[in-house]
Amino acid sequence: MDWRTLANLTADLLVGGDCPGCGLPGLGICPECRLLSAGEPFPVQRPLPGFPRTVSQGSYAGPLRQILVSAKERQGLGCLPVLSDLLATSVAALLAESSVTASLVPVPSAPARVRERGYDLTASLAAGVRRRLGRSALGVHRWSGLRHARVPDDQAGLDAASRWRNLAHSLVARSGDPRVVVILDDVVTTGATLCEAARALTAAGHNVLGCAVIASTVKRLGGGMEEGPPGMPGGPSMDELE
Ligand SMILES: [Zn+2]
Repeated sequence: MDWRTLANLTADLLVGGDCPGCGLPGLGICPECRLLSAGEPFPVQRPLPGFPRTVSQGSYAGPLRQILVSAKERQGLGCLPVLSDLLATSVAALLAESSVTASLVPVPSAPARVRERGYDLTASLAAGVRRRLGRSALGVHRWSGLRHARVPDDQAGLDAASRWRNLAHSLVARSGDPRVVVILDDVVTTGATLCEAARALTAAGHNVLGCAVIASTVKRLGGGMEEGPPGMPGGPSMDELE
């Protein structure tokens, strides 16, 4: 028995650990689920006015979907290093042709979600991406430039049109010297959240280079939106998503 198997079995006995991607006993995300979750960055389209240029690195399906659900519900801190690596891939693709220093702006989490989880998912991801890309030639720093102007209703169960109305003018950006910004979020579904984030930042005078996400939904959500690599199975239930 090798050390990894021993460590995984010991962890399972002691703390009931399992891989959030596949459920097999182990310490955190298993090597196979890491491999299956990592994809090639691709552009995401959504038929919404003002939808910003967006890059995802995977579809919201399979182990990646399970890992993201876990990060939102439980075991979140353990998933952060892997999820930050994946998000950094999308950011690097977005910045590949850019020589400017970009501010990484996380979409702010709802305060109720932060209390539930015990940590701020998007802010933690932004910190992880900054650490990873800080070692590369890309110029990035983290900036908490967005906050809620009002707290929108829970998005779970809302169709695309209702989400759009619910989110309109819910965010406000800090003003000051104009910045080149990249918006970060974990998952893009209808695209309404990214539209609202881009609107708020642009209204405050900043230049939105684009958005980077870990995963994008692959099935039609209410109003008819779709994108992603062909042939990917699965899709989210609305209740899984913020
Ligand atoms: Zn696994």
